[in-house]
Amino acid sequence: MNQTIKRMLLAGLFAGLLVVFAQTQSSPVKQVAPGVWVRLGDRTRNQPANAGWVIFKDYVLVVDANFPWGAKEILPEIRKTSNKPIRFVFNTHYHGDHAFGGNIFTDEGAQIVCSSDCAAESKTKGQADWDRDRATGDYSLKAYKLAHPTISFGNSMAFDDGEHRVELILMGPGHSKGDAVAWLPKEKILFTGDLCVNWGTGNNAADADADHDNWLRALDRMAALAPSIVVVGHGTLGGLSDLRAQHTYMADMIDTVRRGIAAGKSEDEIAQTDLTRHKIGSDKARNVSSLKAVYKKLKP
Ligand SMILES: [Zn+2]
Repeated sequence: MNQTIKRMLLAGLFAGLLVVFAQTQSSPVKQVAPGVWVRLGDRTRNQPANAGWVIFKDYVLVVDANFPWGAKEILPEIRKTSNKPIRFVFNTHYHGDHAFGGNIFTDEGAQIVCSSDCAAESKTKGQADWDRDRATGDYSLKAYKLAHPTISFGNSMAFDDGEHRVELILMGPGHSKGDAVAWLPKEKILFTGDLCVNWGTGNNAADADADHDNWLRALDRMAALAPSIVVVGHGTLGGLSDLRAQHTYMADMIDTVRRGIAAGKSEDEIAQTDLTRHKIGSDKARNVSSLKAVYKKLKP
């Protein structure tokens, strides 16, 4: 082979590799197992929550509806992977960034599924959050309506067609009252909702029904499942180490507050405690609001 052809072949190979690299780097949509897809959230366009879907023999099950403008982008991504009907959308919890886009899917014939506690929260706190919206422009909710869950479960329910199995398991109260996770035992994939994140801005710990101690127990239960892939509520695709990091961060926060109260410190003093050594706690302002939220729960 002469040198010119060799060089051209190498250049072609390199260009091809670059394309593959660019696709895997830039696309927020990833197939994590046959028929199991994840779409990572995009904070810059106010659709920060991760979502996913599982393609069963006869239908598609979506995990987390996102905001309506996010759902409108997720829908065509699902359509690229399957033309089966989207029959179910499981929301891990009722918070707007995970659940407010439900209507985009119910318009396609889907039903919203979540835990009974989550369904109750959707109709109360969720509806109140929706009604409070005063946003204008692209991120206004005015053009949409809130689709409440029509299927709910107590402790668990499962979708199983022999090919895929998805178990929905109540873990709350933790981040909210009705937190539930989606567990795929065959593929060992866990969708955690906001019980676990791995971005740098921590979790919203301020839900009125949050239970921070039980949140730790929920993280232990999730770790005991020994998942290979953890699809966190916000951030990148993760694994067991992210459940552990979330546990360490959360435990540190709760401990900080308890010790602060025991030492007679004020809420503001406690809230200034530095937790930025945790990767998910690198945003100081978010730590302050989370520490205050935990303080409000634990104060004597
Ligand atoms: Zn949330």
